[in-house]
Amino acid sequence: MHQRAFGHQAEISARINQILKEFLAEIQTENGTGGANIHQIRRLRLSRLLLVQEVRYPSPRIIRMLGDMKTTIDGGCLCGGVRYRLHEQPTHICDCHCTDCRRASDAPFITWGIVKRNMLEVLSGDVRRAPFAGRIRMFAACCGTQLFFLENEASELIDMTISSIDSPESYSPKSTIWTEDRLSWVHLDTSPPIFKQQGESGA
Ligand SMILES: [Zn+2]
Ligand SMILES: [Zn+2]
Repeated sequence: MHQRAFGHQAEISARINQILKEFLAEIQTENGTGGANIHQIRRLRLSRLLLVQEVRYPSPRIIRMLGDMKTTIDGGCLCGGVRYRLHEQPTHICDCHCTDCRRASDAPFITWGIVKRNMLEVLSGDVRRAPFAGRIRMFAACCGTQLFFLENEASELIDMTISSIDSPESYSPKSTIWTEDRLSWVHLDTSPPIFKQQGESGA
């Protein structure tokens, strides 16, 4: 219980510093190099006081907000050379049995998720692009792990391999696609919807 509260305090303190920095930057933009005027200083002091109060007694609203801020999911390649971070939960999780995914992964099928492209951050390593059939597959340059997939260069969404997430356990597929290419010895779980071709995902 104490630890939990302390965890929140550390996060809220970081957030406060960020808010104050932004506020000071705003003042500087408004006033040029003239510094803050008395009203702005009062406003700054008051917001600081209110924010510090929040650190000591975080309201449910702030705790919820921190929960939202915390949506970061880390993953990476086999050797650890490429590390990435998702800033939102992957959606449209599906097993793709298409021939291209099979060849590209040397596995009977791939489990993909989708995030907005700007919600994916590559933290380290080089990602190698392999254009094929008008789409772009992306592999870790260091060890060849398949990581991402783009429908086209302008796509705002990016597919990512669920198995490259550090803790993929909770991201179960919600559909199965391209089963017309499925290997007959792969047994399908028939509980999620099954699509002979694309379904909802682009992979
Ligand atoms: Zn690697
Ligand atoms: Zn596929």
